[in-house]
Amino acid sequence: MCNRHSDETNRHHHDIVMTTHEIERNAECGQTPAEGGVRITDGSGGHMAIPRRNVFVQLLGAALGLSAARRAAAASPVCDFCHEEIDGRYFIYKSNRTRVTICASCDQKYPKCEACRLPQQPGDIILQRGERLCRECAASAKYCSICQKRIEGRYYQFTEKDGKGQPSLYCATCYAHAPKCVVCNRPTPRERLDAASGACLDCLKDLPVCKACGVAIVGRYYEFEHTDGKYCENCKRNRPACYTCGVPVGKNYWKFDDGRSICEDCHARAIFDKDQIVKIMDEVEQLLQRRYNMVLKTRFQLSVQPLNSTSLTQARKAKEGLSDASPLVGAELGLYRNVNGQAEIFLLYGLPREMIYETAAHEYAHAWHYEQDCPFDQSLDIKEGFAQWAAAKILEIKGFKQALEKLEDRRDRYYGTGYQRFKAVEKKLGVRGVFDYLTKQKR
Ligand SMILES: [Zn+2]
Ligand SMILES: [Zn+2]
Ligand SMILES: [Zn+2]
Ligand SMILES: [Zn+2]
Ligand SMILES: [Zn+2]
Ligand SMILES: [Zn+2]
Ligand SMILES: [Zn+2]
Repeated sequence: MCNRHSDETNRHHHDIVMTTHEIERNAECGQTPAEGGVRITDGSGGHMAIPRRNVFVQLLGAALGLSAARRAAAASPVCDFCHEEIDGRYFIYKSNRTRVTICASCDQKYPKCEACRLPQQPGDIILQRGERLCRECAASAKYCSICQKRIEGRYYQFTEKDGKGQPSLYCATCYAHAPKCVVCNRPTPRERLDAASGACLDCLKDLPVCKACGVAIVGRYYEFEHTDGKYCENCKRNRPACYTCGVPVGKNYWKFDDGRSICEDCHARAIFDKDQIVKIMDEVEQLLQRRYNMVLKTRFQLSVQPLNSTSLTQARKAKEGLSDASPLVGAELGLYRNVNGQAEIFLLYGLPREMIYETAAHEYAHAWHYEQDCPFDQSLDIKEGFAQWAAAKILEIKGFKQALEKLEDRRDRYYGTGYQRFKAVEKKLGVRGVFDYLTKQKR
């Protein structure tokens, strides 16, 4: 930086030495922050700040542009360090805080601040993070949260989420190159970034986790009624839905021979054993007989079945009793039919316990209703509504609260709409009113 000249007497050097390095940096400081570089998130948004930079001007000899005569007339400058009149080469250091005149020999002797480059009294130099800095620079030094280096030039500032504590600062290089958290947009070292979600560990704590894939969810998530858990878009789109509860299945799930995918939760409560299912049907029958006097005149045949996943034509045949295959298709859980005076109830195996109770009661109610002296060709609202009413009674008696809520919340045609009608009748006229309504109402 110091231009050495062979002619030592040449003290009227007309050269202002300013390193290009400095000029460049000053120029960069003057730039306005780029638009859209930082996303603002819940009040803790980052903003870009431009620090005060010292301008370092080094002069050799007297000021530029003075005539020889005027220079001679001017008083000799005094060194700010040795306080002697300067006779020879000297330097002027300028910063936006101060201006220092120093003789060449003091300039050699005194240490310089590594930030502002101004010469300092040794007692005014502080060792801070491995750098020798003047008190002012030490106090105002800013450090990058990633590379830990003192920031020179442009930096980015992010306030902590809770708004407390010191904001974190990032140098322009780290800001440009470090991966950004997809939630707070903060530049984050890779080891503090969750690879799966792209969120930083701080944001990760607050994110919901997808129950199916276990990945933290950024942005939109899905919940399914009457089930626990949140699910990511990807799982909702691409994973098979549980036949029973409808949620996207997790990494571990069950695929039945009949093609049904069942989530782990539902599988854990599922009943496959035919004898157990028959026992549940017996219990349901006894409960409906005892509490509501729903006694059957003729015995029905109970059959525990898989889902019919053959062609639609085959499935239709089975439904009409024209084949021995299971008549249960699509989303069906059970079926009641009466072919040539023979009552039959079909129940799907592998359903959670409460759904077997619900389905058993529903189909039993159809069987009982069939034997009653009711108007011919009653509407589906009446038929399904009553079957749902009986199913609700069983869920209530058995204490299957969540399943009952699910049933009560249904608003779909027949099952939901029909049930709401019977519920309203019962509220007004009691259980007797329900049976009266069933035997009289046509539509
Ligand atoms: Zn001096
Ligand atoms: Zn300094
Ligand atoms: Zn940095
Ligand atoms: Zn974050
Ligand atoms: Zn997922
Ligand atoms: Zn399920
Ligand atoms: Zn039904």
